[in-house]
Amino acid sequence: MAEIRREKVYCPKCKKEIEIGMWDVIESPYDKEEKEKVLKNMFFKVHCDDCDIIFPIAYRCQYNDLENKYLIWFVPGMEPKDKKVIAEYEERLKTDNTLRLARGGYRYRLVRTDNELREKVFIFEQGFDDRIIEIMKMLYAPMIKQSVAKDRDIIGIYFDQKKDGKYRWVILLAGMNQPLMMDINMDMYDEMKGKLAGIIDEMLPEGFAYINVLWAREVMKEQVERLEKEKQKEAQTRNA
Ligand SMILES: [Zn+2]
Repeated sequence: MAEIRREKVYCPKCKKEIEIGMWDVIESPYDKEEKEKVLKNMFFKVHCDDCDIIFPIAYRCQYNDLENKYLIWFVPGMEPKDKKVIAEYEERLKTDNTLRLARGGYRYRLVRTDNELREKVFIFEQGFDDRIIEIMKMLYAPMIKQSVAKDRDIIGIYFDQKKDGKYRWVILLAGMNQPLMMDINMDMYDEMKGKLAGIIDEMLPEGFAYINVLWAREVMKEQVERLEKEKQKEAQTRNA
């Protein structure tokens, strides 16, 4: 059950005090309204009625989908106290039988921003494997970089969907309000899923995993090394 703490935050513009509810966990399918807000990236935002501005707030919060069995922990700061809470939970998953049963077959993920949380929930809602999506993101990265002006920094690349149902990358750029969009060829998804089926399981960290482009890079590096070794072996057999 969700615990909601009443906390005070201050509008960054007029400094007005605004009372908000901070959730320790959002549970799907029960918390429908909150889920919708997460998917619109509006959950971790506060509106000031006086100045009519929306500003972000970030705090540690779990997103638990009981039907699709995944638990995403939004941990913005990752301070020592956060690490402690996560370690304690991971320990309980090993030792607390009730919890272990309740969480059987679960996927555990860690995210650092509300954009990442929205993306993960969206990916899982669509029935995709976020590990393959991150690998595709990595493979698309050079093309995305090429389409962006050299002096623009890419802040984030996120999986998203167009109105016609096709998928796209939303590319956030520093100093630009409008993101850049790029269509995704989803044939690549099945291809990658077939090719990397074993390795993505082997390289999935235990407990709450931070599955992002850096993780994807490690997987592809490992994959290339394995293929190299296989090639060498083949060459040796042929020469023998
Ligand atoms: Zn205000």
